[in-house]
Amino acid sequence: MERVVMKYGGTSVGTIEKIKAVARRVIKQKKQGKNVVVVVSAMGKTTDKLIKMAKQISNVPNSREMDVLISTGEQQSIALLSMAIEEEGYKAISLTGFQADIKTKGAHTKNVITEINTQKLEKYLDQDYVVVVAGFQGINESGEITTLGRGGSDTTAVALAAMLKCSCEIYTDVDGIYTVDPRVYQKAKKLETISYEEMMEMSSLGAGVLETRAVQLGKNYNVPIMVAFNTGEIAGTYIRELDNMEEKGVTGLSVCEGILMITVDNIYYKPQNISRLFEILAENHINIDMISQTAPKKGMVSVSFTCNADDRFNVEKVLTTYSANMNDVEYTIDEDLIKISLVGVGMMNQSGVAANIFKAFSENNIEFKQVTTSEISVSYALNKSDMLRAVNSLARAFNL
Ligand code: ADP
Ligand code: ASP
Ligand code: MG
Repeated sequence: MERVVMKYGGTSVGTIEKIKAVARRVIKQKKQGKNVVVVVSAMGKTTDKLIKMAKQISNVPNSREMDVLISTGEQQSIALLSMAIEEEGYKAISLTGFQADIKTKGAHTKNVITEINTQKLEKYLDQDYVVVVAGFQGINESGEITTLGRGGSDTTAVALAAMLKCSCEIYTDVDGIYTVDPRVYQKAKKLETISYEEMMEMSSLGAGVLETRAVQLGKNYNVPIMVAFNTGEIAGTYIRELDNMEEKGVTGLSVCEGILMITVDNIYYKPQNISRLFEILAENHINIDMISQTAPKKGMVSVSFTCNADDRFNVEKVLTTYSANMNDVEYTIDEDLIKISLVGVGMMNQSGVAANIFKAFSENNIEFKQVTTSEISVSYALNKSDMLRAVNSLARAFNL
């Protein structure tokens, strides 16, 4: 029997009425003769609310307890959806990450899936149950409840589809993947298809519509992924392996907010001095994104790097330690920055993309602070206040 994994995000199960509507859509697939696994997120903003409660108790809550806490959101929605499906006269059973045998490893709140034993799940499918699995959670080797990082239900869904060798339908509050987040740029165009590579790059550079690891798993296990509006009535976007992707230089644009840029001036130029800075940053688990360094001038260099605004507290700690041992070193922190990235596999073989970006920025008087490139993307850090102007001018320049 054909199988399918359907995933519904927080907004799509945000109220009891919406949960009942999801139950009806699931049954529609069941009536078409499919075996259905549904993965759901926590209702609406439940996860945010749980995190907020923990933060009212501690600035740095115990991460094991955090996992016990934030995994409860999904436990509510799986039970409610199963009840709603049963109410419509169909068999359904809810499974938490632990019950679905989703094994994970890593640091609490940031686990990765290592293995899924689908035996139990398949037993229920064979008995004609709709199996409703909690997204975003699993169990580690020590038997502890774990979670997969924000947005992790996408990963649960694609991982299950990979194990069950079927396709994965991601239902959300937009009707597909757009060239630019349609909430940021209303004229963005909907994509009929996008390659795994490009979607992975778009996600990792800020397009929150799909979690990066979900796309990566999709690519590794060849899972066809569709992203569509939660009513399921409008054709969505398909993510799959694509040929002739090179025609278009730029496929999409991603925006990532909450970036800090730190500039450390007057470093006496010695490789050990630069290395020491990044060593202390690493010891403090600060993830660095863009890096640049000026050419030595009178034996001194400046180094700039960007990181997530959530790391501000730790970054200041590092900079205080670093500058305490180095005469003359000064640092500045630029807040309220964003990163805008243009993504496209076609960039590999096309010249002129960077020239067009610089032209769009210069014509619109937009200053940027940092630039980095990968094979299929170019990213710029700039002031948040310039976000809309920059997105508009780039979207126009690249016909997005
Ligand atoms: P869910 O709760 O269903 O997982 P998310 O909020 O995680 O939903 O993802 C959907 C959101 O992703 C949309 O509301 C949209 O604003 C945002 N988004 C960001 N980039 C894009 C893009 N390129 N195309 C479509 N949506 C995007
Ligand atoms: N509920 C979790 C979150 O809000 C997981 C998810 O929605 O995918 O991040
Ligand atoms: Mg999501």
